[in-house]
Amino acid sequence: GQCVTACPCAALDYRRERGKVVRAINNPKKTVVGFVAPAVRSLISNTFGVSHEEASPFMAGLLKKLGFDKVFDFTFAADLTIVEETTEFLSRVQNKGVMPQFTSCCPGWINFVEKRYPEIIPHLSTCKSPQMMMGATVKNHYAKLMGLNKEDLFVVSIVPCLAKKYEAARPEFAPDGIRDVDAVLTTTEMLEMMELADIKPSEIEPQEFDEPYKQVSGAGILFGASGGVAEAALRMAVEKLTGNVLTDHLDFEEIRGFEGVKESTVDANGTKVRVAVVSGLKNAEPIIEKILNGVDVGYDLIEVMACPGGCICGAGHPVPEKVDSLERRQQVLVNIDKVSKYRKSQENPDILRLYNEFYGEPNSHLAHELLHTHYTPKHGDNTCSPERKKGTAAFDV
Ligand code: SF4
Repeated sequence: GQCVTACPCAALDYRRERGKVVRAINNPKKTVVGFVAPAVRSLISNTFGVSHEEASPFMAGLLKKLGFDKVFDFTFAADLTIVEETTEFLSRVQNKGVMPQFTSCCPGWINFVEKRYPEIIPHLSTCKSPQMMMGATVKNHYAKLMGLNKEDLFVVSIVPCLAKKYEAARPEFAPDGIRDVDAVLTTTEMLEMMELADIKPSEIEPQEFDEPYKQVSGAGILFGASGGVAEAALRMAVEKLTGNVLTDHLDFEEIRGFEGVKESTVDANGTKVRVAVVSGLKNAEPIIEKILNGVDVGYDLIEVMACPGGCICGAGHPVPEKVDSLERRQQVLVNIDKVSKYRKSQENPDILRLYNEFYGEPNSHLAHELLHTHYTPKHGDNTCSPERKKGTAAFDV
């Protein structure tokens, strides 16, 4: 069945998709592939008391026990997004394209722009979100690699986000009528499946994520919390602008945390990169209004995440019970990044191999075809008034 949230933008329509996933698992013709978002691990770690090192193997083991054939790490798609989005950003800087560039990885933010502020669409990165990049990559690259038909692959993303359910159902992400992501489970739905299947945490055998998207970077892990996308982009942009491999000063702590707007200016061999990180849509409105009024906002790259604090506060997670729950969820991601073998998206060997084998180079023709998209003004599509009123952001939760 379906139940619907009270979200006035209809961006958070909540469709329960557990049944679809169970039917696919029980269908011997289907190869069921899951990929798990970084923020889900922070919750798993806190819920089951597993350490941050154990959270990823626990997740992979749980999904295998539920019957998934392959389990990939969503973080891989975060790395792919950073390589595509930072390449686009550097190209805008060099070719004097539309600036500032806004990130596009949060579908709640994208819905908000399309419905409330379509005039700033040219400022949005054309990159698909990590979820849709992963779906397109699995349905095209992985299918080819394994000799599978697209229709025999059933791709499930496991995320803390309700807006991603709406995103996966958009018609542009179903080329030839076959969806790139067949179902989206929230963290809560996945925990419900575990309960319904009567799986005890002690029965879960830790497993590794599967090839060929196994290796991930700490930068990609940071995507789960506010500031993570910008931090990962800076780790690549600074390296490309200076031509030097970044070995220290990888941490941009000033843009982490729970404030509504954080900023940082980084000097990369004389080129200043001015970054703003916004979480909670009401905090994006003053910046957007300034841009629309022709005011220089003083930023080159702006990350916007709809949920305050980023995906660790996504509505598909159980509601935090303790005051410091969100801080602890964020710390799990920071800790994983710190001990990661690779801490920059652009040095992830599996990403480099994917470009060598399949996409060619970042922002290539094929990358544009499968990893980029376009946005459409959607005034009048829902209950949002086309007349904007300042301070009325629907995601001010
Ligand atoms: Fe979804 Fe919220 Fe994360 Fe945006 S910030 S992708 S709406 S969980």
